Amino acid sequence: MDRSRAISRRKFVPAGLAAAGAAGAGKLLGQAAPARARSGRPILDSVDALIVGGGPAGIGAALGAARSGAKTLLIENHSFFGGVAAWSVGMQMNQMRPFGRPRSAVHELLIAKLAAYGEQAVALGEHEVWSNVEYLKVAILDALDEVRAGYLVHLPAVDALVERNRVTGVTVATKRGLMEIRAKVVVDCTGDADVAYFAGAETMTDPDQLMPMTLGLTLNNIPRPGTEAAAIVAAMRAGKGKYPLITSGFLEVKQVAHCNSFWINHAGTADMGRMDATDPRQRTEAECRSRRQALQMVQAIRDSENPNLRQVEWGSAGPQVSVRETRRVKGCYVITEEDAMAGRQFADTIGWRAGYVDLGGQTGSKLVRMKVHDVPYRSLVPEKLDGLLVAGRCISATHVGAAAGKSMGNCMATGHAAGAAAALCAQLGIMPRELKVARLQDKLRAEHVRLDIQDREQTNLRA
Ligand SMILES: Cc1cc2nc3c(=O)[nH]c(=O)nc-3n(C[C@H](O)[C@H](O)[C@H](O)COP(=O)(O)OP(=O)(O)OC[C@H]3O[C@@H](n4cnc5c(N)ncnc54)[C@H](O)[C@@H]3O)c2cc1C
Repeated sequence: MDRSRAISRRKFVPAGLAAAGAAGAGKLLGQAAPARARSGRPILDSVDALIVGGGPAGIGAALGAARSGAKTLLIENHSFFGGVAAWSVGMQMNQMRPFGRPRSAVHELLIAKLAAYGEQAVALGEHEVWSNVEYLKVAILDALDEVRAGYLVHLPAVDALVERNRVTGVTVATKRGLMEIRAKVVVDCTGDADVAYFAGAETMTDPDQLMPMTLGLTLNNIPRPGTEAAAIVAAMRAGKGKYPLITSGFLEVKQVAHCNSFWINHAGTADMGRMDATDPRQRTEAECRSRRQALQMVQAIRDSENPNLRQVEWGSAGPQVSVRETRRVKGCYVITEEDAMAGRQFADTIGWRAGYVDLGGQTGSKLVRMKVHDVPYRSLVPEKLDGLLVAGRCISATHVGAAAGKSMGNCMATGHAAGAAAALCAQLGIMPRELKVARLQDKLRAEHVRLDIQDREQTNLRA
């Protein structure tokens, strides 16, 4: 938390960088010295809606805020957007079109940008989007550009600016030292609730139940037809004696969109005990053991008697492990397993979640079909802190309640709602907890979000 260094909006001049917006920020850094906050740190930008974290939730939030006319800035720690969708090097984005029907203008915008690159880039299932991640990374930029959302990469938020219990921006780490970004509303889409945590909001973690982390990998040079996914799984299972890091949990091998390569999802660190991705030492251990684990998986495949598998090449591995679970924000409502299984409806719904309760490779866990259930606006609003909304996997939910909302399409839906809410709050000059939800619901309906009960009942019948 950085309360001492925070300043009021009137006390700085958002000249240069701030006035030009994020898209031009790279050029302007070389010009006249930027305005400085009372902390002495340069002010990199000043916006209506600041979205921190560019995974499925952050993309939804940035598109939602910018489409609502807010001056929007999306910042991301990596050099590209996509979060787990990109790190997992081939994983399908589930619940992007549940029951084969479009779920919002924002989801459809991303699908359209991917589809523009043709069959090499994307394949659509009943509810899921399979993509080649390299096209996905560019398609996300295309979508952000279309709605004129600003964005900056290589920009981790490392602290929150807080004034009288209100988040007013973040401190970011750059190659030029620490800088500040000011915002009317901040949306925390970091997956780990970083901004909320830095700002002192109450967060929830279940250290004894944390789901495993997984380093996704791809395989190339696969003779097709003639090589089945099942044969690859069998080769890894057979190699477990020689290569002990290969997981004893689930192993899933699938084709990458229309490409002639396979990607592997698996139980990752499940055999290594519960590991917390926010703990620097545990995270390092998870990252390093996962790289060795991936190597051993490839070695086991290449050791196979099957001549097709002996020539398999290791294509790639994610830039980091994909993280299933860390902190969640304690919000004004906490979504539970019962809400998901009962298909609960809420008057303050801002979207819904469909698919499965997925504990992601935890030993003994099974996928359980849940009912389509509402996400109440209150689960995006921190219980006590103002100026902040959360979206994606760190919204207010119990351990299982969170697992019920993990699918990327569901995370994008909460992002969309949080982004639109941030834009409305900035426009009205109010705090997120003061927003009349009916106003947000009208906005979301205009964005083709199907909030109506009758519609949802129909989808449950078809599930
Ligand atoms: C191994 C694995 C398999 C999965 N399988 C599927 C599947 O098959 N289909 C499916 O739909 N879902 C799947 N999921 C779930 C889904 O991927 C996640 O729930 C979803 O990606 C969460 O979206 P998010 O935007 O909240 O977080 P993330 O995808 O984690 O994105 C968070 C983003 O924020 C950035 N960030 C974090 N901290 C900061 C910071 N301080 N400053 C700036 N940027 C920051 C990160 O770099 C990242 O880009 C899987 C998840 C995992 C881990």
